[in-house]
Amino acid sequence: MRLVLVGPPGAGKGTQAQFIAEHASVPKISTGDIFRANVSKGTPLGVQAKAYMDRGDLVPDDVTIEMVKLRLRENDASPGFLLDGFPRTVPQAEVLDDVLRESGTKLDVVLELVVDDDEVIRRLSGRRTCRTCNHIWHVDFDPPEVPGVCDIDDGELFQRDDDQAETIANRLTVYAGSTAPLVAYYASRGVLVGIDATGPVDDVTLRAIDALRSFGDG
Ligand code: ADP
Ligand code: AMP
Repeated sequence: MRLVLVGPPGAGKGTQAQFIAEHASVPKISTGDIFRANVSKGTPLGVQAKAYMDRGDLVPDDVTIEMVKLRLRENDASPGFLLDGFPRTVPQAEVLDDVLRESGTKLDVVLELVVDDDEVIRRLSGRRTCRTCNHIWHVDFDPPEVPGVCDIDDGELFQRDDDQAETIANRLTVYAGSTAPLVAYYASRGVLVGIDATGPVDDVTLRAIDALRSFGDG
Protein backbone atom coordinates (compact mmCIF):
# COMPACT_ATOMS: atom_id res chain seq x y z
CA MET A 1 0.00 0.00 0.00
CA ARG A 2 1.25 3.51 -0.88
CA LEU A 3 -0.13 6.12 1.43
CA VAL A 4 0.39 9.72 2.48
CA LEU A 5 -0.58 11.46 5.73
CA VAL A 6 -1.56 15.13 5.54
CA GLY A 7 -2.64 17.51 8.26
CA PRO A 8 -1.31 20.55 10.08
CA PRO A 9 1.81 20.37 12.24
CA GLY A 10 0.76 18.73 15.50
CA ALA A 11 -2.21 16.87 13.99
CA GLY A 12 -0.64 13.58 15.13
CA LYS A 13 0.88 12.40 11.82
CA GLY A 14 4.08 11.06 13.40
CA THR A 15 2.14 9.47 16.27
CA GLN A 16 -0.29 7.70 13.94
CA ALA A 17 2.36 6.90 11.32
CA GLN A 18 4.04 4.48 13.73
CA PHE A 19 0.87 2.43 14.16
CA ILE A 20 -0.48 2.68 10.62
CA ALA A 21 2.85 1.73 9.01
CA GLU A 22 3.03 -1.31 11.28
CA HIS A 23 -0.57 -2.24 10.47
CA ALA A 24 0.00 -1.90 6.71
CA SER A 25 3.48 -3.53 6.89
CA VAL A 26 5.17 -0.67 5.04
CA PRO A 27 8.11 1.57 6.01
CA LYS A 28 7.30 4.95 7.54
CA ILE A 29 9.14 7.71 5.71
CA SER A 30 9.15 11.01 7.60
CA THR A 31 10.89 13.89 5.83
CA GLY A 32 11.04 15.80 9.15
CA ASP A 33 12.87 12.85 10.78
CA ILE A 34 15.29 12.60 7.83
CA PHE A 35 16.03 16.34 7.99
CA ARG A 36 16.50 16.22 11.80
CA ALA A 37 18.88 13.23 11.50
CA ASN A 38 20.93 15.22 8.96
CA VAL A 39 20.92 18.30 11.19
CA SER A 40 22.24 16.34 14.17
CA LYS A 41 24.95 14.69 12.06
CA GLY A 42 25.90 18.07 10.58
CA THR A 43 25.71 16.84 6.95
CA PRO A 44 25.61 19.44 4.12
CA LEU A 45 21.88 18.66 3.71
CA GLY A 46 21.34 19.23 7.43
CA VAL A 47 23.23 22.53 7.39
CA GLN A 48 21.14 23.68 4.42
CA ALA A 49 17.81 22.58 5.97
CA LYS A 50 18.41 23.88 9.51
CA ALA A 51 17.84 27.58 8.84
CA TYR A 52 14.45 26.91 7.23
CA MET A 53 13.39 24.47 9.95
CA ASP A 54 14.36 26.84 12.77
CA ARG A 55 12.09 29.53 11.29
CA GLY A 56 9.25 27.06 10.69
CA ASP A 57 9.57 27.57 6.93
CA LEU A 58 9.59 24.79 4.36
CA VAL A 59 12.91 23.52 3.06
CA PRO A 60 13.01 24.40 -0.69
CA ASP A 61 11.22 21.95 -2.99
CA ASP A 62 14.28 20.98 -5.06
CA VAL A 63 16.25 19.90 -1.97
CA THR A 64 13.31 18.03 -0.43
CA ILE A 65 12.24 16.31 -3.64
CA GLU A 66 15.77 15.04 -4.38
CA MET A 67 16.00 13.61 -0.86
CA VAL A 68 12.63 11.82 -1.14
CA LYS A 69 13.42 10.43 -4.61
CA LEU A 70 16.57 8.81 -3.20
CA ARG A 71 14.67 7.38 -0.23
CA LEU A 72 11.90 5.94 -2.42
CA ARG A 73 14.51 4.13 -4.52
CA GLU A 74 15.55 2.03 -1.50
CA ASN A 75 14.38 -1.59 -1.63
CA ASP A 76 12.10 -1.49 1.39
CA ALA A 77 9.91 1.16 -0.28
CA SER A 78 9.25 -0.82 -3.44
CA PRO A 79 6.19 -2.79 -2.19
CA GLY A 80 4.74 0.29 -0.47
CA PHE A 81 5.35 3.12 1.97
CA LEU A 82 3.72 5.60 4.31
CA LEU A 83 4.85 9.19 3.78
CA ASP A 84 4.63 11.47 6.83
CA GLY A 85 5.28 15.15 6.08
CA PHE A 86 5.71 14.78 2.32
CA PRO A 87 4.36 16.16 0.05
CA ARG A 88 3.86 19.56 1.63
CA THR A 89 3.40 21.62 -1.54
CA VAL A 90 1.52 21.05 -4.82
CA PRO A 91 4.80 20.91 -6.82
CA GLN A 92 6.06 18.18 -4.44
CA ALA A 93 2.79 16.26 -5.00
CA GLU A 94 3.12 16.60 -8.77
CA VAL A 95 6.66 15.21 -8.71
CA LEU A 96 5.55 12.33 -6.48
CA ASP A 97 2.79 11.50 -8.99
CA ASP A 98 5.36 11.58 -11.83
CA VAL A 99 7.86 9.37 -9.98
CA LEU A 100 5.18 6.80 -9.18
CA ARG A 101 3.78 6.89 -12.72
CA GLU A 102 7.28 6.25 -14.12
CA SER A 103 7.52 3.14 -11.95
CA GLY A 104 4.03 1.98 -12.99
CA THR A 105 2.41 2.65 -9.60
CA LYS A 106 0.31 5.32 -7.90
CA LEU A 107 -0.84 6.45 -4.48
CA ASP A 108 -3.61 4.31 -2.99
CA VAL A 109 -4.81 6.75 -0.37
CA VAL A 110 -4.12 10.12 1.25
CA LEU A 111 -5.31 10.25 4.84
CA GLU A 112 -6.07 13.73 6.19
CA LEU A 113 -5.94 14.17 9.98
CA VAL A 114 -8.42 16.92 10.86
CA VAL A 115 -7.69 18.93 14.04
CA ASP A 116 -8.33 22.62 14.79
CA ASP A 117 -5.59 25.21 15.45
CA ASP A 118 -6.18 25.49 19.23
CA GLU A 119 -5.70 21.75 19.71
CA VAL A 120 -2.63 21.78 17.47
CA ILE A 121 -1.05 24.53 19.59
CA ARG A 122 -1.72 22.55 22.81
CA ARG A 123 -0.21 19.45 21.24
CA LEU A 124 2.92 21.11 19.85
CA SER A 125 3.63 23.09 23.03
CA GLY A 126 3.87 19.87 25.08
CA ARG A 127 5.49 17.58 22.51
CA ARG A 128 8.60 15.69 23.57
CA THR A 129 10.58 13.31 21.34
CA CYS A 130 12.98 10.52 22.28
CA ARG A 131 16.52 11.30 21.15
CA THR A 132 17.27 7.64 20.43
CA CYS A 133 14.08 5.94 19.15
CA ASN A 134 12.16 9.08 17.97
CA HIS A 135 9.01 8.00 19.85
CA ILE A 136 6.67 10.96 20.33
CA TRP A 137 5.29 11.85 23.79
CA HIS A 138 3.27 14.70 25.26
CA VAL A 139 3.80 16.13 28.74
CA ASP A 140 0.03 16.07 29.48
CA PHE A 141 -1.77 14.00 26.82
CA ASP A 142 0.67 11.06 26.58
CA PRO A 143 3.27 11.43 29.34
CA PRO A 144 6.09 8.94 29.92
CA GLU A 145 6.24 7.30 33.37
CA VAL A 146 9.33 9.30 34.34
CA PRO A 147 9.31 12.90 33.05
CA GLY A 148 12.03 13.45 30.44
CA VAL A 149 12.76 9.73 29.96
CA CYS A 150 11.39 7.48 27.19
CA ASP A 151 9.45 4.45 28.51
CA ILE A 152 10.54 2.39 25.51
CA ASP A 153 14.35 2.64 25.64
CA ASP A 154 15.17 5.04 28.53
CA GLY A 155 16.31 7.60 25.95
CA GLU A 156 16.45 11.30 26.79
CA LEU A 157 13.36 13.29 25.68
CA PHE A 158 13.88 16.66 24.04
CA GLN A 159 11.66 19.54 22.96
CA ARG A 160 12.03 20.37 19.27
CA ASP A 161 13.51 23.82 18.52
CA ASP A 162 10.60 24.51 16.16
CA ASP A 163 7.99 23.85 18.90
CA GLN A 164 8.39 27.40 20.33
CA ALA A 165 5.32 29.68 20.23
CA GLU A 166 6.48 32.05 17.41
CA THR A 167 7.71 29.19 15.24
CA ILE A 168 4.47 27.25 15.76
CA ALA A 169 2.51 30.32 14.58
CA ASN A 170 4.62 30.55 11.41
CA ARG A 171 4.28 26.83 10.74
CA LEU A 172 0.50 27.14 10.88
CA THR A 173 0.60 30.05 8.42
CA VAL A 174 2.88 28.07 6.11
CA TYR A 175 0.53 25.07 6.37
CA ALA A 176 -2.50 27.17 5.41
CA GLY A 177 -0.70 28.79 2.45
CA SER A 178 1.41 25.97 1.01
CA THR A 179 0.16 22.61 2.27
CA ALA A 180 -3.62 22.90 2.77
CA PRO A 181 -4.14 23.13 -1.06
CA LEU A 182 -3.08 19.46 -1.20
CA VAL A 183 -6.44 18.51 0.30
CA ALA A 184 -8.26 19.74 -2.82
CA TYR A 185 -5.51 18.37 -5.07
CA TYR A 186 -5.95 14.84 -3.73
CA ALA A 187 -9.74 15.08 -3.36
CA SER A 188 -9.99 15.84 -7.08
CA ARG A 189 -7.99 12.67 -7.77
CA GLY A 190 -10.37 10.55 -5.65
CA VAL A 191 -7.75 9.34 -3.17
CA LEU A 192 -8.48 11.60 -0.17
CA VAL A 193 -10.11 10.40 3.03
CA GLY A 194 -10.39 12.67 6.07
CA ILE A 195 -10.83 11.59 9.67
CA ASP A 196 -11.47 13.41 12.94
CA ALA A 197 -8.06 13.25 14.64
CA THR A 198 -9.23 14.46 18.07
CA GLY A 199 -9.69 12.24 21.11
CA PRO A 200 -7.45 9.47 22.47
CA VAL A 201 -4.57 8.31 20.25
CA ASP A 202 -5.95 4.73 20.10
CA ASP A 203 -9.37 5.96 18.94
CA VAL A 204 -7.75 7.96 16.14
CA THR A 205 -5.74 4.88 15.08
CA LEU A 206 -8.93 2.81 14.88
CA ARG A 207 -10.63 5.51 12.80
CA ALA A 208 -7.61 5.65 10.50
CA ILE A 209 -7.47 1.88 9.98
CA ASP A 210 -11.20 1.83 9.35
CA ALA A 211 -10.88 4.60 6.74
CA LEU A 212 -8.04 2.77 4.98
CA ARG A 213 -10.16 -0.37 4.69
CA SER A 214 -12.38 1.29 2.09
CA PHE A 215 -9.23 1.87 0.01
CA GLY A 216 -8.27 -1.77 -0.11
CA ASP A 217 -6.27 -2.36 3.07
CA GLY A 218 -7.18 -4.62 5.98
P1 ADP B 1 2.72 15.80 13.70
O1 ADP B 1 3.65 14.68 13.27
O2 ADP B 1 1.47 15.87 12.87
O3 ADP B 1 3.42 17.12 13.77
P2 ADP B 1 2.81 14.49 16.32
O4 ADP B 1 2.44 13.09 16.00
O5 ADP B 1 4.25 14.79 16.57
O6 ADP B 1 2.22 15.49 15.17
O7 ADP B 1 1.90 14.93 17.57
C1 ADP B 1 2.05 16.23 18.16
C2 ADP B 1 1.86 16.12 19.67
O8 ADP B 1 0.50 15.77 19.95
C3 ADP B 1 2.72 15.04 20.35
O9 ADP B 1 3.18 15.52 21.58
C4 ADP B 1 1.75 13.86 20.54
O10 ADP B 1 2.09 13.09 21.70
C5 ADP B 1 0.43 14.58 20.74
N1 ADP B 1 -0.71 13.82 20.23
C6 ADP B 1 -0.77 13.04 19.11
N2 ADP B 1 -2.00 12.51 18.95
C7 ADP B 1 -2.74 12.98 19.99
C8 ADP B 1 -4.11 12.80 20.41
N3 ADP B 1 -4.96 12.02 19.70
N4 ADP B 1 -4.53 13.44 21.52
C9 ADP B 1 -3.67 14.23 22.22
N5 ADP B 1 -2.39 14.44 21.90
C10 ADP B 1 -1.93 13.82 20.80
P1 AMP C 1 7.88 17.77 10.63
O1 AMP C 1 8.74 16.88 11.46
O2 AMP C 1 7.09 17.03 9.59
O3 AMP C 1 7.02 18.71 11.46
O4 AMP C 1 8.88 18.71 9.80
C1 AMP C 1 9.77 19.59 10.46
C2 AMP C 1 10.32 20.62 9.46
O5 AMP C 1 11.09 19.97 8.44
C3 AMP C 1 9.28 21.44 8.72
O6 AMP C 1 8.79 22.55 9.47
C4 AMP C 1 10.09 21.89 7.49
O7 AMP C 1 11.00 22.92 7.81
C5 AMP C 1 10.92 20.63 7.19
N1 AMP C 1 10.18 19.73 6.27
C6 AMP C 1 9.71 18.48 6.56
N2 AMP C 1 9.10 17.96 5.49
C7 AMP C 1 9.16 18.89 4.50
C8 AMP C 1 8.68 18.96 3.16
N3 AMP C 1 7.99 17.94 2.60
N4 AMP C 1 8.94 20.09 2.45
C9 AMP C 1 9.63 21.10 2.98
N5 AMP C 1 10.08 21.12 4.24
C10 AMP C 1 9.86 20.02 5.00
